[in-house]
Amino acid sequence: MKSAITSLLLMLLAAAATGRPLSTPHGAELATPARQAYVRLTDWAKANRLELQWLKQDETLQLSNHSSKVVLAVDSREAQINGVAVWLLFPVVARNGAVCLAQLDVNLTLRPLLSPPRGQPGARIRTICLDPGHGGKDPGNRVGSNQEKQHTLLLAQELRTQLTRAGFKVTLTRSTDAFIELPTRPELAKRRSADLFVSLHFNAADTARNSVQGSEVYCLTPVGASSTNARGEGAGAGAFPGNRHNDLNLFLAYQVQKALTRTLAVEDRGVRRARFAVLRDAVMPAVLIEAGFMSHPAEGRKIFTSAYRQKMARAIVEGLLAYKRAVEPTT
Ligand SMILES: [Zn+2]
Repeated sequence: MKSAITSLLLMLLAAAATGRPLSTPHGAELATPARQAYVRLTDWAKANRLELQWLKQDETLQLSNHSSKVVLAVDSREAQINGVAVWLLFPVVARNGAVCLAQLDVNLTLRPLLSPPRGQPGARIRTICLDPGHGGKDPGNRVGSNQEKQHTLLLAQELRTQLTRAGFKVTLTRSTDAFIELPTRPELAKRRSADLFVSLHFNAADTARNSVQGSEVYCLTPVGASSTNARGEGAGAGAFPGNRHNDLNLFLAYQVQKALTRTLAVEDRGVRRARFAVLRDAVMPAVLIEAGFMSHPAEGRKIFTSAYRQKMARAIVEGLLAYKRAVEPTT
């Protein structure tokens, strides 16, 4: 009871702090803005030698220097970091005339992307575990006669060919139409000493919204933050084994999303966070790729072809190589 009252108070404080009613039924999401430490963007920009300018007064602003450009919007979690869409953990807020960013986003979103982690333990990449989503009795999304489980496996097989050619050792969580429990997938990656875990999926919107298209790449939500969307969210917001690699997870997701959106010229739905089961228990840097919408008339048709599959695989390889180049120790 006491915690319920505390939550309610935090909710009210949160609503007061943002000046907006909070409608989400998610306890953790309601409580966070009030508890969340925020930093003033002007101070942070100055300390990091970034120039701050409004692109649209009081709405959109840009932080930039010779090598980086970050675009943020007030009351929004949508950011652009060097041209790639990235969902922040908390919205940018304006308080007493000062624009503020959550300390967690400074530490866990901007810093790892603007100064990528190099030479951390676990940053050597030799073996990659590919995880074709769904399988067996779980078909995943279905559009007409097309099942997600078929196309994730076809993409994984193409990706295995291309990654092997690029010099990686590749292992698959499934190479047939088999059902594999979610916790087993990162467990297989661990048993096979994989250095990266890459789960492959395709999206589908309900038929009323078949205009939705584009790629999105997920990494595990850090402790204390809420996921980009609650779909597939597990219970609780505690620490999981996967949180050990928060920085690398995000940087990997960023590089893959960058390569996908550039190579395929698809809509950039952004780097997102979720507590998907396969990401929670991965002991190596891990991402989940939603490579496109099977439900979109044009994008869907492409996803079902081998020519486009090769192109998707090329983009993912390019993203993994960019990640490898940036994070592996130089010596
Ligand atoms: Zn899926």
